[in-house]
Amino acid sequence: MPKTALIVGGGISGCTAALTLSKLGIKCTVYELRDVPATIGGAVNLTPNALRILESLEVEISGCQCDAIEIFSLATGSKIAELGFKGKSGPAKRVERAVLQRGLLEAVERVGVGIIYGAKLVEVTELGGKVDVKFESGSSAAADFLVGCDGIYSAVRMSYVEPERKPIYTGMCTAYAIVQKAGVTSDIHFQQTAVNSSRFGALLTSYTDPEKTRIYLGAVMETTEQCSRDGWKTRGLDREMTAKEVQRRYATCAFACLPELIAKAEDWIFYPVCKLGAGGRWSKGRVILLGDAAHGMPPQGESTGLAIEDPVLLAQVLAHFPDKSLGAIFESYEKTRRPRIDTAYKEAVFRWVNVKDKSWLWQKFEEWLTWMYIWYRADFFEKSMAYDIGKERIIE
Ligand SMILES: Cc1cc2nc3c(=O)[nH]c(=O)nc-3n(C[C@H](O)[C@H](O)[C@H](O)COP(=O)(O)OP(=O)(O)OC[C@H]3O[C@@H](n4cnc5c(N)ncnc54)[C@H](O)[C@@H]3O)c2cc1C
Repeated sequence: MPKTALIVGGGISGCTAALTLSKLGIKCTVYELRDVPATIGGAVNLTPNALRILESLEVEISGCQCDAIEIFSLATGSKIAELGFKGKSGPAKRVERAVLQRGLLEAVERVGVGIIYGAKLVEVTELGGKVDVKFESGSSAAADFLVGCDGIYSAVRMSYVEPERKPIYTGMCTAYAIVQKAGVTSDIHFQQTAVNSSRFGALLTSYTDPEKTRIYLGAVMETTEQCSRDGWKTRGLDREMTAKEVQRRYATCAFACLPELIAKAEDWIFYPVCKLGAGGRWSKGRVILLGDAAHGMPPQGESTGLAIEDPVLLAQVLAHFPDKSLGAIFESYEKTRRPRIDTAYKEAVFRWVNVKDKSWLWQKFEEWLTWMYIWYRADFFEKSMAYDIGKERIIE
């Protein structure tokens, strides 16, 4: 069993890796690019399986329980379908990413793993049974192995594991904002979380807290020109243009609350949605990639859960084969993990193609098709939600 690990990236998979690996007695240190924990980020869906893992790791997260995602037609106001989480798997939860990040960081602090902020990884090398990393500041660190949890723009992947595997822009952007429910006078048409489907993309609306005081708006929009990556928080004119674009696409609709919510949203955050190509390499030598660094895909309601599952499985494989080489452990991890990731990837890419702008007739056809698709895939969704990584059979 390796004794020390460097974890690059203190986001969702990085913090989870710190928790699962330190439970095995591996001494971990997390290196995070940002100077302080990120406070931006919209609301993410935590699937029942992800919630069970967080509970087992004693990570407390406050959010809005989600028994079902309601799907509405923006044009007619009719409810097209409902994707329920009421089966064997139990409810999901919609949480603000910053709340999830905070919960994970508190748990990491409790187990005594150190996080070094302002550490931008720039170089990875291997020498004498150790892996060495260099940071932009000039400092360096070494350990038995390195876990790259540095997201879709992973420097670990692009500087070492597979430099040619670069993020691909999907042609879609997301703009999101949070609105305080107090002061909204129109009736809210959804119970917990809804997708409001239109010819010009989809608007996700959801409460994000147990008391239902905060409403998240997430607008998906086809945009041929890729917005800048550092436009996470758009400035000045950009922000105004984003607000106008959201208005243009979604404010004329069958629901009175949507124009009001859109008008009350002050701070739109705009970001390009990227993915990695299918497949790809996940490890090289003493280095392994987890989360978006390995399998970045457009958000499809399960992406955060997948980033939480990865480090749990890695720890299970390490515990299962304490005497095997790192190469054999990484190979076993990958063989065990690939099928679930490949399925989720195909589903995510398929769903994103369908939110692109379309004709009035095609939208009508799709609305009609949606309930059939959800009915047909109900068993698949239920199985995916009820999936328990702890019961995964490890393939040698
Ligand atoms: C600030 C932020 C906001 C987000 N908001 C949303 C959202 O609203 N909706 C959504 O669906 N997804 C969002 N995501 C992406 C989402 O968190 C991931 O898709 C998913 O949770 C997978 O998690 P991850 O840990 O693999 O990657 P991430 O959550 O992206 O975490 C990667 C971490 O690595 C750090 N990092 C990057 N490069 C380096 C480097 N060179 N050296 C050291 N550290 C590095 C990043 O700062 C980050 O903390 C956001 C990600 C971030 C970082």
